[in-house]
Amino acid sequence: MVKGMKAKKCVICNARKGKRFCVKENEFICSRCCGLIRDPQLCPNDCLFLSSLAEKKEVGELPLYKVLMTTPKGSRSIVIAREKENGRLQFISVLVDEWKMGLKDCFGEQDISKKDFNRLIARQPHYVDADINKCKEIIKRGILVAETLGLKIPREFRELKHILGDLDKVEVTGSLYKCFECGKGDLPDEIVELIKEVTLHDVAAGVCGTEDETMIFFVCDKCRGEKEEVEKGVEVIEEEVE
Ligand SMILES: [Zn+2]
Ligand SMILES: [Zn+2]
Ligand SMILES: [Zn+2]
Repeated sequence: MVKGMKAKKCVICNARKGKRFCVKENEFICSRCCGLIRDPQLCPNDCLFLSSLAEKKEVGELPLYKVLMTTPKGSRSIVIAREKENGRLQFISVLVDEWKMGLKDCFGEQDISKKDFNRLIARQPHYVDADINKCKEIIKRGILVAETLGLKIPREFRELKHILGDLDKVEVTGSLYKCFECGKGDLPDEIVELIKEVTLHDVAAGVCGTEDETMIFFVCDKCRGEKEEVEKGVEVIEEEVE
């Protein structure tokens, strides 16, 4: 700083040093007053300090601490934890029944220590690190399935879904349910209708997720083709052995 050029006092409080140039006031103001008068609706877009506020308001912008998913297909438990400025965490845990009910269960915490979180996670042995976008896609499809079937989205999900981050940009395309084998290929309409029917039957009977539920397994054309190839191959080998 040039010698003798002292920072002017904040034009609002006239008490603290005005270190921030406020586009709205066209004057230097202090950080405290900036925080008080800053408003995404009122401040001009070129305000340097507005963007940091807007980002913080979106809780999804907090840095990711852990993204975990269980590996068996069909029923996915997903955990997304974000770290707050004070080093504590917030997390959401979502259970998605990919093959029947969609998003079916949710819990989480808005404030938990890393130690308590890690202890909680250690109780579930099948978690592996996962890709956030893949998790978001499974969850968004889970919501779509539950809504299509007229099933209730858990209240906890509405309270905690901000932890996931933005779901609007996540694209869910193709058939409602996907191939049970690869998780990517589309299933034909009549199969999707059949799955919906079986699911609603199982939900009404209260057996979804129990050993009494109707066992179904549908694969896309591509996976069926590959499976038939393998079976043919096995037959050939058996013949050769004889
Ligand atoms: Zn001030
Ligand atoms: Zn401003
Ligand atoms: Zn497939």
